[in-house]
Amino acid sequence: MKRIALVTGGSRGIGLGIATQLAANGFDLAINGIRSAGDVEDAIKQLKSFGNDVIYCRGSIASSAGREQIISEVKDHYHRLNILVNNAGIAPGQRNDILEATEESYDEVMNTNLKGSYFLMQKAANWMIEQKKNDAAFSGCIINISSLSATVASVNRGEYCLSKAGLSMATQLFAVRLGEFNIPVFEVRPGIILTDMTAGVKEKYDKMINEGLCLQQRWGKPEDVGKAVASLAKGDFMYSTGQVIMVDGGLTIPRL
Ligand code: NDP
Repeated sequence: MKRIALVTGGSRGIGLGIATQLAANGFDLAINGIRSAGDVEDAIKQLKSFGNDVIYCRGSIASSAGREQIISEVKDHYHRLNILVNNAGIAPGQRNDILEATEESYDEVMNTNLKGSYFLMQKAANWMIEQKKNDAAFSGCIINISSLSATVASVNRGEYCLSKAGLSMATQLFAVRLGEFNIPVFEVRPGIILTDMTAGVKEKYDKMINEGLCLQQRWGKPEDVGKAVASLAKGDFMYSTGQVIMVDGGLTIPRL
């Protein structure tokens, strides 16, 4: 029986990179996002070309009703879930200094990146526990996509940094709670990846990368993150629950 992976924000950027690698490794997929089904047709077609089943579950992870809807669509279609990849996330609409940034932006970013991922993880975890109790051979795994911003301070997007630092602790909390069920929980922490999210700051990062910001002197690609996630999902790191996998070209190694 094929294993089922739910990838939030899986129709573009890093999420599509992850979904593509999971499809290439034989997973059936549930792809979530907020755009209409018509807008993601090409991505779904691309993922189906691997010969797997792929469904699109439209809904916002930022709302309780959205999270309920996403999980119930996966239940209705597949009746099981092996992998949750909490990838969907947003940057602040405007990068503002923490001395001026607004509560509205804080709420928006935290509701999606932290609250959304945290409570979707809670739902998936409870379902995985149920599946494990019914079938000892069940194999589940949760992977959270955080960011180097979990530990690197950027004062022009404090709310984003806080959301990713929180997601990092959420990974540890669920790793602890799900240990007894042998359901590993991982954090994948990307560096600077070329996607729509970073399109507005491309020139700035082009320059910094050329000047040696990363040890590996190039932008990260969605595929780089996808390959790391697929490796975790396949079970290559089964005795490493709670760990952080860096995908940042060495950016965060302190240097003198
Ligand atoms: P993009 O902006 O390219 O894509 C974001 C994805 O998240 C989209 O698919 C979008 O859906 C989805 N999404 C946004 N809000 C919601 C929501 N409320 N409910 C469901 N889905 C939602 O971002 P990236 O691919 O660059 O980023 C993906 C993840 O990686 C994020 O968590 C980001 O913080 C993290 N990250 C990114 C880095 C980078 O350099 N790009 C670096 C480190 C971490 P839709 O397509 O329907 O609009």
